[in-house]
Amino acid sequence: MNKMIDLRSDTVTTPPQAMLKEILTANLGDDIMGEDSTVNELEKQAAELLGMEDALLLTSGTMANQVALMTFCQRGEEVIMGKESHIYNLEGAATSAVAQVQIKTVQVDNGVYDLKEIEKNINIGDIQRAKTSLISLENTYNLNAGQIIPMDNLKEIKLLANKYEIPIYMDGARLFNASIELGISPADICKEVDAVQFCLTKGLAAPIGSILAGSKEFIDKARFNKQRLGGGMRQAGIIAAPAIYALNHMIDRLKDDNDRADWLAQKISDIPHFKIETGGMRTNIVSPIITHDQTDSLQLINYLLEEGIKVKNIAEKQVRMIVHYQIEQEELNRIISALENFSSTL
Ligand SMILES: *Cc1c(COP(=O)(O)O)cnc(C)c1O
Repeated sequence: MNKMIDLRSDTVTTPPQAMLKEILTANLGDDIMGEDSTVNELEKQAAELLGMEDALLLTSGTMANQVALMTFCQRGEEVIMGKESHIYNLEGAATSAVAQVQIKTVQVDNGVYDLKEIEKNINIGDIQRAKTSLISLENTYNLNAGQIIPMDNLKEIKLLANKYEIPIYMDGARLFNASIELGISPADICKEVDAVQFCLTKGLAAPIGSILAGSKEFIDKARFNKQRLGGGMRQAGIIAAPAIYALNHMIDRLKDDNDRADWLAQKISDIPHFKIETGGMRTNIVSPIITHDQTDSLQLINYLLEEGIKVKNIAEKQVRMIVHYQIEQEELNRIISALENFSSTL
């Protein structure tokens, strides 16, 4: 039996032995007291990498996002974000239940935010409206497409935000997939925003954690909000040690994931009854659309499962495949031949 190929997400990545070994030799302390030197080292290194003054280790991307909203916004204020944002759709309505902010959504096409729509949604000083206190971007954008926000769009958003004195937050869960594809340093991307989070647990393959980064003042407040949510941890160096390894060894290889996803997309677009959406800059996510009338995602998913391949259902006729650390050319070949076989049965 071939080993299972799991393309449902890059969160399924498991750490290499060398990454796990770092845990055994890590210096540990009480992180709530600021005394875990491994966490302190990670936060310092991450802040430098992102060109931010300070950084904070949190348990997850969801917690980082919600802490960011809590830190930037007062209760009842408004945040503008893309309609398909993770924060808006996939965080259990924590925006209303926890951060207690209101969301205004705007259109994003191929990673490009509609500036006119953002501007139209900004409220300042009207007694009947909620005050806009944050613009929240996602880069790479949208779980299902993984497109990069073009730098010129990001710069235009920054000019607009400056005009109204509204800060910009970036949910950069897969920020390094974007930076490596653009050939632009993470710090140069983050220059355009006030705060950012990235996930250690996706393509970077660490077991736990996200990093939130911003100004010293922002991170001081965020640290308090993290604690308030029960996110304070004690010997969190066991999380930080593999995370440091991930920053040192796992970022450059994300180019392989992006390139393999591109190869996969090209091959799938040649298979009858499948279509690949084009437009935008691809990273490690491929979401094929089934064009045949007699079949759908569920049939495809069941077929692939029998072949030892897991993909994610995202629409009646669309599935998602995320390429990651455990997917190499051999796996890609198996995926293509399974899809070709499925196609030939139609
Ligand atoms: C995965 C993801 C998150 C949440 O990260 P978790 O660690 O799973 O909570 C947030 N935003 C985006 C864009 C993501 O892809």
